[in-house]
Amino acid sequence: MYTETGSQWNVAELEGAAHRHLISPAEELAKLGTSGGRPLFTSADGIHVRDSHGRTLIDGPGGMWCTQVGYGSKPIADAIAAQALRICYNSPWYSISGPAAELARRISSFAPGDLNHVFFTTGGSSAVDSALRFVQFYNNVLGRPTKKKIICRIDGYHGSSHLTAACSGRAGNRPNFDLELDTVSFISAPNIYRHPQGKSEAAFLEFLVAEFEERIAALKPENVGAFLAEPILASGGVIIPPKGYHRRILETCRKHDILYISDEVVTGFGRCGHWFASEEVFDIVPDIITFAKGVTSGYVPLGGFVLSESVLAKISGENAKGSFYTNGYTYSGHPVSCAAALANIGVIEDQDLLAHVREITPYFQEQLAKLRELPLVGDVRGVGLLGCVECATDPTSEAATDFDRQVALRIDRQCYENGLVVRPIGSMCVLSPALIITRPQIDEMVSILRESIVRVQAEIR
Ligand code: PLP
Repeated sequence: MYTETGSQWNVAELEGAAHRHLISPAEELAKLGTSGGRPLFTSADGIHVRDSHGRTLIDGPGGMWCTQVGYGSKPIADAIAAQALRICYNSPWYSISGPAAELARRISSFAPGDLNHVFFTTGGSSAVDSALRFVQFYNNVLGRPTKKKIICRIDGYHGSSHLTAACSGRAGNRPNFDLELDTVSFISAPNIYRHPQGKSEAAFLEFLVAEFEERIAALKPENVGAFLAEPILASGGVIIPPKGYHRRILETCRKHDILYISDEVVTGFGRCGHWFASEEVFDIVPDIITFAKGVTSGYVPLGGFVLSESVLAKISGENAKGSFYTNGYTYSGHPVSCAAALANIGVIEDQDLLAHVREITPYFQEQLAKLRELPLVGDVRGVGLLGCVECATDPTSEAATDFDRQVALRIDRQCYENGLVVRPIGSMCVLSPALIITRPQIDEMVSILRESIVRVQAEIR
């Protein structure tokens, strides 16, 4: 059975326990208790995971876009242990967490513009949820009780809380749940590969901006509180918007006094070669940035949002009008999580990982792009160490077909056999490896992916 060191595993018993008692976040209920197929990872090191059959694999998706510095980092593990022994918890209501205060200072120092006030949560969903609740609070304090609607995009993903799930426009996440649809309004995904207009990138941009303007007009600006967007739609399939998109949308937000929330849960903490992608990659300073995942490299849960000084100033100090902000997470600014994040930032700095990502990105993207020549591959795209290979047996189709989705699943299984974990999302294989990845490791990863696609191609033709 499971032991303290994890060195002995009764794999069959653990798999049985998982099937009988563990509900995963993505569960086909008809097969609950009987289906196998999910691997049991027993240990990990660097960019590799090891499964219960003793097989070592490259972790292509980096956990779930989160293992920035890689597995097995001693400085982070030591920081977690030291903080747990020093003081494992203190109430954020009655006391200050030292690591939280220091982490807020660090994040403020590298967040863009005047974003310098940090609220900590327990992960990405709670980060976005808290940012959206802040928008409601903000407009109530300002005496604008109707300015609450949130505009977001089809194929965006922002989490699994009640409100963030409603803001997530991926069809697969929605069936059988009730959603806050009165609050949320969806506009098109800025998907250049599968957009229906048959237009140039520049014309598509004009279409998207006009659609946003029209939606604001239809809802009326006095009813729209926020625009919520990932800089790159990650779970939606690494969708990179047309050049200038975020800037134009931000200008429209400014015109109508709508807060711009940039959801950097995936793109933050080095994924695109910078602490945050909003300013450095997409040339915008939003009002709020949400973060999670890479802030601790996945060692312990943590999330949060950074808020601009100018927005906060409108409802604080002399403008506070007696308002009292509560968003009462027991684990807000948890000392162990914040200590892990500080150690993680230390590792990123010591190993100069932001520069490493900027240096290695062109190589990663070039190697991946070569897969475009394979017949099953419709599109290859990416930014930084985010990449996506989209299967499209009929590239003229505006939507992925069931067949393409099956193809991606088969590629995923074949990759696993060949020593690579990928993450099939619909018809796409998505990669976001740890930031420490080297050129030879990129070669190995892409070559396994290529061999697997070729193998599946041979099987289905
Ligand atoms: N926002 C984005 C952009 C995400 O990709 C995710 C998760 O994948 C979330 C929010 C939710 O984060 P969490 O799963 O930590 O709650």
